[in-house]
Amino acid sequence: MKRKTRDNQRKKVYQLHHSQWDGLIPEAFKPMSLDKCQRLIDVCYYRMTGEAAHSERGKLSPMGFYPVYSGPPLVTDGRRRRRAGYCSGTHRIKLPKWSRNGETVIHEVAHSLVSGKYASHGPEFMKVMIRLLSFVCQISEAELRAKAKEHKVKSRASFPIKTWRVSKSLLAEFRKPETDSKVTNDTERIWKEHGVIRPITIENVRKYIFND
Ligand SMILES: [Zn+2]
Repeated sequence: MKRKTRDNQRKKVYQLHHSQWDGLIPEAFKPMSLDKCQRLIDVCYYRMTGEAAHSERGKLSPMGFYPVYSGPPLVTDGRRRRRAGYCSGTHRIKLPKWSRNGETVIHEVAHSLVSGKYASHGPEFMKVMIRLLSFVCQISEAELRAKAKEHKVKSRASFPIKTWRVSKSLLAEFRKPETDSKVTNDTERIWKEHGVIRPITIENVRKYIFND
């Protein structure tokens, strides 16, 4: 029988988060709107799977609690929650207000991508997280890996990862702060009105991912 994988690195991964990677990736700790979080989820998920958001995402099966469509996880506002989290049953990422930054979003996307047969915050999870942080923050994986190592967080270098091409202009968006006029928070409004968020249309996703 296979022994249950233990999540030995969890505490250290959180400590690395609280240190804000010692200032190595400041843009990844800037507050973001919920809409921007969703777009970052979409871009990161596309980067790692080649799957874009479906316009009907967020719908659950009528009788069960599983998502009808695959693709990037749906973001929800995570109110009343203490911390951010990914739910594999509903394929949703819950983000309380104070957790809306690039590093946390990427942390949760990594949970949605790494199989449950690996430790939740294990070396395989860190490999995916570092790959995504490197992509979004435009910093080398080696630098991120070295910083993680300083905090005694291991990343499994040999863990195989495939990536899809994403336009660079899209990434520029996550490297500049949002101005008030650009923060729409449409996602939050729709969540309140309908209980399901569907602000990301196929057209919008194409625009953000393919820049057309
Ligand atoms: Zn986690």
